[in-house]
Amino acid sequence: MTTAMSTLRENLVVMKFGGTSVEDAVAIARTAGIVQGRRNKGLAAVVVVSAMAKVTDQLIAAAAAAGRGDRSGALAISARLRNRHIDTAVALLGESDARLPGLHAALHVEFDALDDLLRGIAAVGELTPRTNDLVTSFGERLSSRMVAEAFAQHGLEGAHVEARHCIITDDHYGKATPLPEAIEAALHQHVLPLIEAGKTPVMGGFIGSNLQGITTTLGRGGSDYTAALVGGGLHAGAIEIWTDVNGIMTTDPRICPDALRVKTISFEEAAELAYFGAKVLHPATILPAVQKSIPVWVLNSHNPGNEGTQIVAMSPRCASPFKSIAAKKRLTIIDVVASRMLMSHGYLKAVFDVFDKYQCAIDMVSTSEVSISLTVDSNEKLPEICAELGKIADVKYEGHKALICLVGEDIRGHNGIAGRVFSAVSHVNIRMISQGASEINMSFMIDEEDVEEAIRSLHRAFFTDPDPTVFDLTARLPAASR
Ligand code: ADP
Ligand code: ASP
Ligand code: MG
Repeated sequence: MTTAMSTLRENLVVMKFGGTSVEDAVAIARTAGIVQGRRNKGLAAVVVVSAMAKVTDQLIAAAAAAGRGDRSGALAISARLRNRHIDTAVALLGESDARLPGLHAALHVEFDALDDLLRGIAAVGELTPRTNDLVTSFGERLSSRMVAEAFAQHGLEGAHVEARHCIITDDHYGKATPLPEAIEAALHQHVLPLIEAGKTPVMGGFIGSNLQGITTTLGRGGSDYTAALVGGGLHAGAIEIWTDVNGIMTTDPRICPDALRVKTISFEEAAELAYFGAKVLHPATILPAVQKSIPVWVLNSHNPGNEGTQIVAMSPRCASPFKSIAAKKRLTIIDVVASRMLMSHGYLKAVFDVFDKYQCAIDMVSTSEVSISLTVDSNEKLPEICAELGKIADVKYEGHKALICLVGEDIRGHNGIAGRVFSAVSHVNIRMISQGASEINMSFMIDEEDVEEAIRSLHRAFFTDPDPTVFDLTARLPAASR
């Protein structure tokens, strides 16, 4: 690598803005201002945006309506989305801006294609995962075009990049796996020249295409993943995930309004939290960044002055055992009781092979002499899995379960933690317990309806006197001294 190129990469920041950061003209203008702030510091930026808030949910609803043959219902959703985008474009650029007709035309082209697609799905009355991906891809296709145009208002030269040309994946529709080498090559072809020309590339997150060019998506919340893939592929100096909270917090602030910002967290802790339900980051986000040792920041676009959370390779020592508490809902617990061959040699393998065959990920496992309990987050293939397991065991399953997960690298250094955890939730019925093999999480399974109460009790028990070197306690200071 030449010196010029390595300097360019050190100075390159990939900035991802979530749905609430591009939800309307005001939010998009704020986002543009944040990007301009980075550019003013002499940094180059690649911007990855989600669909405007709630748009993906509405596209999923439109696709489902069309799949049921409800043509007018599907087109009505699309019409509302069209109005929202057209109005936002006017509010962003202003009626008299010479670029408004071009942006409007581009948005109408996308919406006309969406409407044609919905009519086609409704005519056939069948929605396949492949077509569902195509419908949901419109959210990021539209938002990225608007944001790229809005940048000019802020003196930035935005350049729209078609994300589907860059994020190359396998063809597992709905949750495609990225192909890093192909992505790196595509980013070098489509994005690097724009950066070198001093432009600010803007691309949609979440969407990609397979090797045949057919549209795929990376799964819900996948724009974070796109940012990490772009950061990894371009060897960026930093990745910033801009969202609607001050960073990674001690738990979801929607459940516990007195949650605190975690100033620094390790890659391993953040990955564990994301996997176990902390929506603030997509579970797969961290990996491409870790592999290339790229620092990741989680920041608040509604409060850009806040320092956010830095995700680093090694977490600093912390006097508090846990960094954060996450909850993963909509889980199913499956009890497999070995009726005929009491856990004989090869038995566990036979059970796991069934899950493997149906590509069903298992979250938690506990075994006894004769039984295995497992939890899964996808009910899609459950009837087939249980039918097949039924050949070697008695099987029963129960839904509406949730996993509470406490994460922290300092669990190891504290004695009596399990006792403190379980006395904090002594009023809750606990089904399964696991102290993660990674030694940085402690998790247990409860009924979904007990989640909020359990989290609040645990938060009181573990974050009443937190270590100020790791947690931001400003929110707890009297208003006058903040
Ligand atoms: P975006 O649209 O920016 O991707 P998301 O809605 O996906 O934002 O994620 C941000 C939300 O994650 C927050 O509003 C918050 O409610 C939720 N959340 C869950 N757990 C945490 C946590 N530990 N720290 C911060 N936010 C969390
Ligand atoms: N728009 C997609 C979703 O809502 C991806 C994302 O926002 O990260 O899931
Ligand atoms: Mg998200």
